[in-house]
Amino acid sequence: MSAAGSAPRRFEGRGVLVTGAASGIGRAAALLFAAEGARVMALDRDAGVAATADAILARGGDAEAVVADAASEPDVRGAVEAAEAKFGALDAVFANAGISGGMAGLFDQTAEDFAAVLRVNLLGPFLALKHAGPRMAARGRGAVVCTASVAGLRAGAGGPAYSASKAGVVSLVQVAAQQLAGTGVRVNAVCPGLVETGMTRFVFDGARERGKEHKLGSLSALRRPGLPDEIARAVLFLASDEASYVTGQALAVDGGLSAQHPFGR
Ligand code: NAD
Repeated sequence: MSAAGSAPRRFEGRGVLVTGAASGIGRAAALLFAAEGARVMALDRDAGVAATADAILARGGDAEAVVADAASEPDVRGAVEAAEAKFGALDAVFANAGISGGMAGLFDQTAEDFAAVLRVNLLGPFLALKHAGPRMAARGRGAVVCTASVAGLRAGAGGPAYSASKAGVVSLVQVAAQQLAGTGVRVNAVCPGLVETGMTRFVFDGARERGKEHKLGSLSALRRPGLPDEIARAVLFLASDEASYVTGQALAVDGGLSAQHPFGR
């Protein structure tokens, strides 16, 4: 229930599953969804995800933590079923869990390392769509947001497997949006630029040690890195009814990084 006179909360009573919710962008999104009234199932392979659920509960929200692998089909199917059983329905999924896989060059990367990155970053969102999409379609409503990256839009912002996996996510949401056309279910991707999280902490720590922190994010039009909350707010928009005419899109939330030609920087 919204406070008297304030805007109604956008996810009041709605069931939301967030993967990669122990840290960074996923944790920020889980907290924001809950602040907007959502009942949150927070999934992560890291047991620290319990702290995300505890933070939501401490603020009077409704949340459950699940320690599971976002790239395991039984785990994802189980989380979708558990969310539906607990919340009555699953209204939104934020398929966000991801790994970087390092910056080894294309021809130095082992097949195993390449496959491991695709497994989490691309198979994971596919499994979320596969198990949540048809259930949402059967109820005639729902939204899925997957985390891609600016690395999926342009080469050079991540390692080879990472970039290919994120480009795959951009394509996956287009395909899924088409498959779910007319069902009331929308599917979109968010493409963050550089954000300080667990994944990128070594970049920020290294720059601080070298006194080069001011250089971080300097290639973006806004000349700074993003904050997890700034990505999460875009995710909430895409998952909300405010985005009722948005599907199959990849929204760059990158301070203008991907909009600039290198000559203009
Ligand atoms: P993060 O490391 O802080 O969070 C990622 C979370 O995903 C971690 O809690 C991790 O335990 C979890 N995770 C990884 N593999 C998992 C698996 N198989 N099953 C369940 N949980 C798993 O990093 P982040 O930056 O918040 O990453 C979130 C998403 O944002 C990722 O998809 C990442 O690729 C993407 N992204 C991040 C940036 C950035 O600059 N930080 C930029 C573009 C895209």
